Amino acid sequence: MSELAERFDTHDPGEKLVAEKIRCDACPVMCYIADGRTGACDRYGNAGGRIVRMDPLTILDHAAETGAAIVPFIAEGEAWDGELVNTGRRFVTAIGAGTTYPDYKPAPFIVSQEVEGVDLITVVTEGIFSYCGVKVKIDTDRHLGPETAIVRAAGEAIGHVTTGEYGSQMLSLGGVHHLTGGSKSEGRATCDALLDLCNRKPVELTIDGGATIIVEAGKPPVIDGKQEHRMRVGCGSATIGMFATQWRGLVDEVVVVDDHITGVVSEHQAGKVLGWQDTGIKIIGRRSTPGRYFKVSEPGLGWGGTSISDPLSILGEWNAKKGARPGLSLLMVSTTGEQFAYYELDDELKPIEKPFPDRLQKSVGLIEDNCEPALCTVLFIGGAGGSLRAGVTENPVNLTRSVQGLKTYVTVGGAPVYVWPGGGITLMVDVTRVPEGAFGYVPTPALVAPIEFTLRRDDYVRLGGYEAEIRSLEDIVAKGGEYLNPRRGTGAPTSNPWPPLAQLHRAGSNGIG
Ligand code: SF4
Repeated sequence: MSELAERFDTHDPGEKLVAEKIRCDACPVMCYIADGRTGACDRYGNAGGRIVRMDPLTILDHAAETGAAIVPFIAEGEAWDGELVNTGRRFVTAIGAGTTYPDYKPAPFIVSQEVEGVDLITVVTEGIFSYCGVKVKIDTDRHLGPETAIVRAAGEAIGHVTTGEYGSQMLSLGGVHHLTGGSKSEGRATCDALLDLCNRKPVELTIDGGATIIVEAGKPPVIDGKQEHRMRVGCGSATIGMFATQWRGLVDEVVVVDDHITGVVSEHQAGKVLGWQDTGIKIIGRRSTPGRYFKVSEPGLGWGGTSISDPLSILGEWNAKKGARPGLSLLMVSTTGEQFAYYELDDELKPIEKPFPDRLQKSVGLIEDNCEPALCTVLFIGGAGGSLRAGVTENPVNLTRSVQGLKTYVTVGGAPVYVWPGGGITLMVDVTRVPEGAFGYVPTPALVAPIEFTLRRDDYVRLGGYEAEIRSLEDIVAKGGEYLNPRRGTGAPTSNPWPPLAQLHRAGSNGIG
């Protein structure tokens, strides 16, 4: 008997051993798998002539919502007695559930559960997403690369730099063109990078004409070998507005150096309102409005996301007719408060660096305190298409309408998702809210992601659901499903609501949170 047959207890001693390979039909690759072996994706195996799902089915226990310890209540391979931890707030996720490929059959689990007197159905399946990718937000001011520059993993193009957001740089990775539209190695590198990013592993990315970064969901980015610590408090102009009162009476001029908008307090509206005197300062850059300058330098890894290491390089001649005088004091600071320097004008009106005075330490510290920790955020984005929807209902468009009409609540491994308005079911989910290791792949290549649809039983029946396949949660916990894998209980992430309750009490939105 093979080790797998023993582990999954699939071998009947009265039967002959199965020597032939059997076909897995859980994805278009259609692997022939010998007894005791697994298929190309390692997610399915042949255990004594039966196709089994190698990972356990994950059932979340929402006791953890109230801060209780996370207690696995069933070991792999054991039968669960249903008693150890049972808060009555359990949720069968699609992690380990199996797929509905090739489409003609109902989803692996259609679970019924009564919540507050309402019979709710959760349809559970592992979706194969050929159309998918990730959006990555990297909290940093540093220049990672020009917009539209190619992002590479293992030397292959897997995405591009997209428009930056406030205090963050953004990458768009994956998508069907990189997964299936290029060379085999491009598809493989894209799939590997997406899988690791979704499973919260670190991935090294290089940007053409830009930086090399290590991205890991929920962790600070590492840019050209240096870990980023803080994201900026605001642009240079906003920083002036926020802290102008702190500097009044302590220094004659403040320049907040920023790649986007460098601020000058004596000229800025905030300084004017507070009665700041002119200083005769001259900034080399494009003046936007008073005290706000664009393009003081090229973008880079220096002060405030500029390429400069010497802040004086953005200053021109000081003008005595407009207020410059020997002894005038100047603070220059970056938008994160990480870089700062203090100067006084000499008799030739040249700024000379002086030891940083104690009286300004507090204000610089305040900028730093107001900066949030720099993190990488990874959102999985995918389109729940035909095959997946057919496992939910005989008339797939009904599911789309039900999701769009807010009658069906969608989760990924129990985590809330944002569903884009418009056609189809295009969803986004923060991977740090999905249980670890929930994402898989198939070599087509495509990503496999858990997806669950929760709705009222009468709505489910109305949209053409597979009523005969509905099973109670207790029955599923006790007996499992066609892939014979064990069930595994784990605490739900505390930030995620219990999906059945969220479905009952949702207030007109399909958004994350
Ligand atoms: S790649 Fe995986 S899911 Fe696809 S047929 Fe092979 S074993 Fe089955």
